Amino acid sequence: MMSSDCSDTASLSALPPGGHRAVARCDALGVAPYSEEKDQLFRPYLSASYRATCDCIAGWMQSAGMKTRLDAAGNLVGRYEGLTPDAPALLIGSHIDSVRDGGRYDGMLGVLMSVELVAHYAAQGRRFPFALEVIGFGDEEGSRFPAAMLTSRAVAGLLKEVPADMQDAAGITLQDALAAEGLALERMPEAARKPEEILAYLEAHIEQGPVLEAENRAVGVVTAIAAQYRFRVRMKGVAGHAGTMPMTLRQDALAAAAEAVLAIEKIGQSGPSDLVATVGQLTVVPGVPNVVPGEVIFSIDVRAGDAAVRNAATAEIRTALEALAARRKVTLEISLQQDLPATPCDAALTDMLSEAAQSVTGTVPRRMVSGAGHDAMIVAALAPVCMLFIRCEGGISHNPAEAVNPSDVEQAFQVMTRFIEDFAGRRP
Ligand SMILES: [Zn+2]
Repeated sequence: MMSSDCSDTASLSALPPGGHRAVARCDALGVAPYSEEKDQLFRPYLSASYRATCDCIAGWMQSAGMKTRLDAAGNLVGRYEGLTPDAPALLIGSHIDSVRDGGRYDGMLGVLMSVELVAHYAAQGRRFPFALEVIGFGDEEGSRFPAAMLTSRAVAGLLKEVPADMQDAAGITLQDALAAEGLALERMPEAARKPEEILAYLEAHIEQGPVLEAENRAVGVVTAIAAQYRFRVRMKGVAGHAGTMPMTLRQDALAAAAEAVLAIEKIGQSGPSDLVATVGQLTVVPGVPNVVPGEVIFSIDVRAGDAAVRNAATAEIRTALEALAARRKVTLEISLQQDLPATPCDAALTDMLSEAAQSVTGTVPRRMVSGAGHDAMIVAALAPVCMLFIRCEGGISHNPAEAVNPSDVEQAFQVMTRFIEDFAGRRP
């Protein structure tokens, strides 16, 4: 991998390792050639901008004393050896890819903070009883091929078989995209790591929500990644003439759906703060001004840190919808589209991360459930995981307006160094 011709200007390299440099480097990677587009950030898996970004980060990794490689799934991996060669590793990282018109810090901040951590220890000549491995996952977002977290699945050993050869929007197959990087679809499962090689996984990520900002906190500790249900609901009434059908005789599917949306909102509000219930999509049939709606199709997304909480809320939603459908004489069909289990973070590591955060910030950190999915929930199948959230402005993410405060990131960096040192201290 080449490390030249990267946007690491002399001024960036002159910054000491830490949160400020991580932010500056995220900013440097927010534009072409590290984006497919000139006027927005879009960095899909295995694209030209992905390659340029990996080359650039690999250069920074090498300067920090790491040996770099692209694994069989196209993830960028940098390894900083421990006190003894081939020691098992503490894996730290996040993802390199972005959504279309995304922000500069989603994923990338966690990757570059990990590089900074190694640079920090390399500058002191300090090594641990374990190796530090930094990983930049390739396709967390699923913004190119119709699958997300394929590359963390590969690392976690969850791709037992070769994945399907899917196509991107331009008709390029995953096989061809991998081949362009010298990789092979049939070898993708070889990115799997052995459990004995990976001691734990630590991921730092922007919160992508407004809670830390509202509570005026720089960082938070993630206890679990939420369990998620997604349903498709169909309510059927009777379509009729908007002028001639009396109000008393109507079986209006949209009026029923409207009542359903409000019932779902109310149930979402009635649980613990990490319970969320959303109707985000709604289609009215026939959807014209002079016809009483005969049919409505809508989505329900329910998430909570604890599957039991999610399931109880879902049962309550079902009961409410059945009751109002019966009263309004519309039929109800609810079909399950997606069922993702909750992923608890490792309790001992989470406690250690909380203690590190408390010693840096001087307050007991906020513990929170991640409503969004992350690579950590996949890596949990391989090793114990923990996650640190960093405040982002207005809770905005997947948007060019995504912003962080560099001093928050510096605090998060301090928390991570403290965590790594405690982790080393507590190992037998
Ligand atoms: Zn992300």
